Amino acid sequence: MSGLWYTEKQTDHFGITMKIKRTLHTEQTDFQYLEMAETEEWGNMLFLDGMVMTSQKDEFVYHEMVAHVPLFTHPNPENILVVGGGDGGVIREVLKHPKVKKATLVDIDGKVIEYSKKFLPEIAGELDNERVDVRVDDGFMHIAKSENEYDVIMVDSTEPVGPAANLFTKGFYAGISKALKEDGIFVAQTDNPWFKADLIREVQRDVKEIFPITRLYTANIPTYPSGMWTFTIGSKKYDPLEVSDEQFHEIETKYYTKELHKAAFVLPKFVKDLTE
Ligand code: SAM
Repeated sequence: MSGLWYTEKQTDHFGITMKIKRTLHTEQTDFQYLEMAETEEWGNMLFLDGMVMTSQKDEFVYHEMVAHVPLFTHPNPENILVVGGGDGGVIREVLKHPKVKKATLVDIDGKVIEYSKKFLPEIAGELDNERVDVRVDDGFMHIAKSENEYDVIMVDSTEPVGPAANLFTKGFYAGISKALKEDGIFVAQTDNPWFKADLIREVQRDVKEIFPITRLYTANIPTYPSGMWTFTIGSKKYDPLEVSDEQFHEIETKYYTKELHKAAFVLPKFVKDLTE
């Protein structure tokens, strides 16, 4: 991969393409095919099994929107779990909240953590923070073993193929509910509404059967297929739409604002239809 165009194929007829400056590392890990490359447009990028995971230029959108929406919704987020997220971007954002005492990251693939630290240092830089406990383990198994433990759980997984397939099941959401405290809240990345409408509809239906408050919000992420990404929230008590102005405090962000927190839940009709 040098001077070449790299395409993540979304369907047989559509993909997202970027020009590669040079390959930094490739490796078949125990779980997935890992590629790190320097690109002309997006800085260093991580790909897993041919799919874009993150880029230095637009990573802030995804990581801020995964972390800050649930963290500003929960009034006292002290104990946090991130499932997946081995690049460290969500953890970096989580630590911006002073109420967070401990953040546990459980990624199945230690190689993602290792090479993110090497080639994406501004994303992975907080993984060694003393408030962070990094574990290399299957998130599904970790959830199955946890009970009444976390205030907020964030699922920053790969797409629902390979090692992440069981992270999109009703059984997993039931486990998350058990792992959360009685007023806990969780968020999961749920792909894009252009090509994965069925997945979003299914996740919404499953989460609704388990959590009294279920919401969908979106963010604009140029390096992800279609550019429009969704996140599903399941909450036992707090509604992300009812966050008062006093709940927000100043943190340094590039995408998230308290106005955007609310605006992100305003959905185009074809996306809203997936939640009904
Ligand atoms: N933001 C990206 C996206 O939406 O495409 C995903 C980020 S990437 C860091 C996701 C991580 O999930 C990978 O590091 C992968 O190893 C991890 N993962 C996949 N299946 C997992 C599982 N069962 N348990 C824990 N981590 C898992």
